[in-house]
Amino acid sequence: MDYRGLFEDVTRAVQPALAGGRVAQYIPALASVDPSRFGLAIAELNHRSKPHGTGDWLEPFSIQSLSKVFTLALVLAADGDTLWTRVGKEPSGAPFNSLAQLEREHGIPRNPFVNAGALVVTDRLLTLTGDARGALRDFLRTESGNPRIDFDAEVAFSESRHGHRNAALAHLLADHGRLDNPVPDVLDHYFWQCSLAMNCRDLARAAGFLARHGLRADATRLLTRSEAKRINAVMLIGGTYDAAGEFAHRVGLPAKSGVGGGIIAVIPGRCTVCTWGPALDHHGNSTAGITALDTLTTLTGWSIF
Ligand code: GLN
Repeated sequence: MDYRGLFEDVTRAVQPALAGGRVAQYIPALASVDPSRFGLAIAELNHRSKPHGTGDWLEPFSIQSLSKVFTLALVLAADGDTLWTRVGKEPSGAPFNSLAQLEREHGIPRNPFVNAGALVVTDRLLTLTGDARGALRDFLRTESGNPRIDFDAEVAFSESRHGHRNAALAHLLADHGRLDNPVPDVLDHYFWQCSLAMNCRDLARAAGFLARHGLRADATRLLTRSEAKRINAVMLIGGTYDAAGEFAHRVGLPAKSGVGGGIIAVIPGRCTVCTWGPALDHHGNSTAGITALDTLTTLTGWSIF
């Protein structure tokens, strides 16, 4: 595989996208990130082979909702399919922080990637481990092979001070009897999990179990094949929120975005890709990331379709 040529073509294609979109404003600590940054990493299935990357691929950024893939995996690994009684697996067709949809649907979030669904998953992880954010950090350190991965306290406090909508979602969930832990505890773990700072290389490596049909970096099993399939399926229908249809149309891969500008995409049986471009479209997805993945699947034929 000629990664150098591929990276040059992708980097050329994203240049116009770097000028479009807007860095997330609603978490003040994220608003000052330079929108022209761009990085891309590819991690092949064999954990010992070195990841490939270009641009700002070694620059840490706020993982935000990328964390939701990993908390979901940890809970599924412990609970199996019983999780799906508390959270749905349908596309949301609504913004990731919609209160109206949650109220209409009696506190059962559409899927684990809208914020309400992620709060339910974090609540469960907190019950299972006593320390949801710590369990997530330790898992990411192990899977990426980077023991220095850590939280960004400024981002966590910034979101906690301004996270009124997430607080409203958590209270609505509690009102419907959907949380086992106190609302402040669930919110606290959720904000800290979102604040983890990681680079494209480490994220691509950490997500490798999704391309290895559930096998961790050390080849032990985290998820059954069918659980890994379920996460990839939910990423396809909801990983980029109410733009998941457009994303499937353009890119054709299971993927998860975060408002820090990251996108993780999975090519089952082959590799994982992580892109970073902080400027977002109005759905909260990275404009450069979508263009990069669109170009990448077009040039390589790696779409799952
Ligand atoms: N922490 C962010 C929030 O809860 C995550 C959202 C996202 O990345 N889409 O609003």
